[in-house]
Amino acid sequence: TLIDAVKSGEAQSLICEYRLLTKTNEWCWILSKGMIMAGKDHEGPRRMIGTNTDITARKQSERLIWQQANFDALTGLPNRTLLDRKLGDLLAVDENAVCVAFIDLDNFKLVNDSLGHAAGDELLKIVAARIAAEIGSKGLVSRIGGDEVIVVIDPLPRLRKIADAIARPCNIDGVEIRVTCSIGVASSREHGRAASELVANADMALYRAKDAGRNAIQLFTPEMAEAARHKLLRIDDLRRAVAEDQFLLHFQPQKHIASGEISGVEALLRWQHPQAGLISPAEFIPLAEETGLIVELGEIVLDKACRQLRAWLDSGLPAVRMAVNVSARQFREPSLPAKVAVALSASGLDPALLELELTESLIMEDVDGAIARMRELKRLGVSLSIDDFGTGYSSLSTLKLFPLSRIKIDRSFITDIPGDPGDMAITSAIVALGHTLDLEVIAEGVETEAQAAFLAETGCDAFQGFLFARPLPAADIGKLLAGSVVVEKRRKKRPA
Ligand code: C2E
Ligand code: MG
Ligand code: MG
Repeated sequence: TLIDAVKSGEAQSLICEYRLLTKTNEWCWILSKGMIMAGKDHEGPRRMIGTNTDITARKQSERLIWQQANFDALTGLPNRTLLDRKLGDLLAVDENAVCVAFIDLDNFKLVNDSLGHAAGDELLKIVAARIAAEIGSKGLVSRIGGDEVIVVIDPLPRLRKIADAIARPCNIDGVEIRVTCSIGVASSREHGRAASELVANADMALYRAKDAGRNAIQLFTPEMAEAARHKLLRIDDLRRAVAEDQFLLHFQPQKHIASGEISGVEALLRWQHPQAGLISPAEFIPLAEETGLIVELGEIVLDKACRQLRAWLDSGLPAVRMAVNVSARQFREPSLPAKVAVALSASGLDPALLELELTESLIMEDVDGAIARMRELKRLGVSLSIDDFGTGYSSLSTLKLFPLSRIKIDRSFITDIPGDPGDMAITSAIVALGHTLDLEVIAEGVETEAQAAFLAETGCDAFQGFLFARPLPAADIGKLLAGSVVVEKRRKKRPA
């Protein structure tokens, strides 16, 4: 038609791109540009002069750029950009109804960590191919990043087939592995007509599926959005609380069993919320961890705990050890040793009076990294203990690698003493284990005389719990200390 327009004189020039099949059966792209030259005296046959250019190379690089902009390099699946566009087009037509499903492999990190990244990549390719095969031309598939894939399908039952396909064994370098997946789903019939809204809702459902133990398909419900909104508000609240310092510390004394005296106190964080009152750390520490606010909060706790101990010492009270909880994220933060040093020097405390409580699961996650970090802390002169001991998976051989002073038997083993012979056996085994490694052993959550008596029998060094005292405000601890002769810690020599 363009050529016709030129012939008829309607058009005065021509630019067009087209492809030709060459003799060697390859496509060759041509750009033709031409100008119409009128015949003499505006009569006679009209001629066209111009150029033909081979633009195959440019076309190929344009294609490559388009490919890179719209597809995932590893799996070859469409990427988020392409998905968003196609999903948008699909939803723009009122009659179309689809399910948007967010798929995430369960424990993918474990594959990466144990078999290496190359194996992880291989697994992703296999899984992507299986999903694509299940979907065929009947839906959309897109890799969003990592091990996350979004599929757009209808009807819902086909998701079960996808999950089953993923769960089939995969052979990677001769190793047979099986992975399950978690899937969150939102339907355009009920959960929104905008692509972004459906994806966000499917993501929320996925989060719930993971939370509920993985290997599940979870449909979005409006209650999830409400929970997410509520959480955002709480994060906001927490951020303000950190900025305005709405925190205070309570302290729970630790009783040295042999002497009956106070050997230390544990600093326990409390949030003095302007409306809700005193909030327990169990409610906000996980949120602070998730948002990273724990780093700042941890610094506040360290500072307050050191200052409080300084104040007690200055008013003539006997020296006790101050135990401060350190959470996972805080422990991994490279600035932790520097912050501990600042808190110590600001209060002028003897570093030996400060103890950092680390949880067992935290240090077992990356043993070598934990040892290095613990050594850095030890160099400052502080002591280290393992909190909630017995709930993680430390073996005797790894435990002895850590520069520890103390282990703290988890409350869950103490609660059912003396009723539960199993827990009693575990408790005395932990005490023996600790002493073998030259560590002090303390039990937490001791509420009854029977529990205390049993601990004394096992040779446990100290305990902490409601039986002796609840966590108390600083002033009450001051009074307790005033009435007590604090024991000189039973110091044991251990190479750092
Ligand atoms: P944790 O370090 O294991 O602290 C012991 C928890 O057990 C405290 O709860 C304490 O009040 C409670 N407890 C003590 N004795 C008894 C007892 O006899 N019976 C019962 N049922 N409970 C007892 P709390 O104060 O609510 O703290 C909970 C957790 O929050 C702590 O567990 C710790 O993991 C975390 N946490 C507290 N303060 C901080 C902090 O400053 N930083 C960090 N990162 N975590 C903190
Ligand atoms: Mg603790
Ligand atoms: Mg504990």
